[in-house]
Amino acid sequence: MMNNYDLYTRGGVITERNADYATIRLRIPGGVLSAAQARQLAKISEKYGDGTLHLTMRQTMEIPHVNPENLEKIAKALEKIGTPIGAEQNEVVNIMACPGTERCKYANCETIDLARKIDERVFGKELPIRLRIAISGCTHMCNSPLLNDIGIIGRIRPLRIPGLCTGCGTCMVYCKQGAISLKDGISVLDESKCVQCGICIHSCLYRLLKSEYDHYQITVGGRRGANPRIGRELISVETEEEVVEVVDRIVYWVYRSAWSGRSLADQMDEIGFEKFREEILKEFGAREEAEAATGG
Ligand code: SF4
Ligand code: SF4
Ligand code: SF4
Repeated sequence: MMNNYDLYTRGGVITERNADYATIRLRIPGGVLSAAQARQLAKISEKYGDGTLHLTMRQTMEIPHVNPENLEKIAKALEKIGTPIGAEQNEVVNIMACPGTERCKYANCETIDLARKIDERVFGKELPIRLRIAISGCTHMCNSPLLNDIGIIGRIRPLRIPGLCTGCGTCMVYCKQGAISLKDGISVLDESKCVQCGICIHSCLYRLLKSEYDHYQITVGGRRGANPRIGRELISVETEEEVVEVVDRIVYWVYRSAWSGRSLADQMDEIGFEKFREEILKEFGAREEAEAATGG
């Protein structure tokens, strides 16, 4: 266990305006707590903080106003209940995820467990810049993945079964993109308008629409703030394992090649998006070789 001083230098411990106190930010990927964890956090806040808990933008919690001399004891108590000290400096900060298929009827993919898997792979890596990751189960993008350095979005491409459509028009009404029309008594898809939200698939009472291609779209270079940027599509992959792998490649690229003090979006502009994409793949190959050589 680290001592008070070591803990104070960690990203999840933030000096307050009154420097006699610190705020502790927790590690809660996907923002899901059990009721028991919530009760324990309340007790920790009452014992070491000012009795409040602060909900952050990134689906984690903070325990405000703690005495830095108690950091060791607090860290121990937080580890015990499974919500350790989190991240805030130049590293991957708390990973956001919408409810996904666990609860949302629109979701095209699981999200919470994916957030935990990515967190396990990348948490605690020291980087030259801060990286924000958000996962949305569908193209509604409720947690704005396109405004994050890395965005992950569950998509489904609908497939029509020829000859079976009754032409009832239900899917056309449900499609908010105007991508479906009726021609000669059957529904027809305009691929150029379809955003692959998957809603039409669930709307057909006769189950005539199938999911042809379930996938995760991965975007890079988004950001919020004074100069917001929309993330650009890097790649689409089909499995959770591939998502974790691609995210790991991006994080490794940042670790190896990024400069400090400038957002990922700016650095992508500088080297050119295509070259950035290429370099991620190249760096991945280099890393595998390095790990094989060192037995890592
Ligand atoms: S992004 Fe989609 S899946 Fe996630 S909460 Fe919003 S509507 Fe549901
Ligand atoms: S997947 Fe979504 S956008 Fe595409 S046709 Fe179906 S409802 Fe419309
Ligand atoms: S809801 Fe089904 S049956 Fe009705 S138009 Fe769409 S695909 Fe055809």
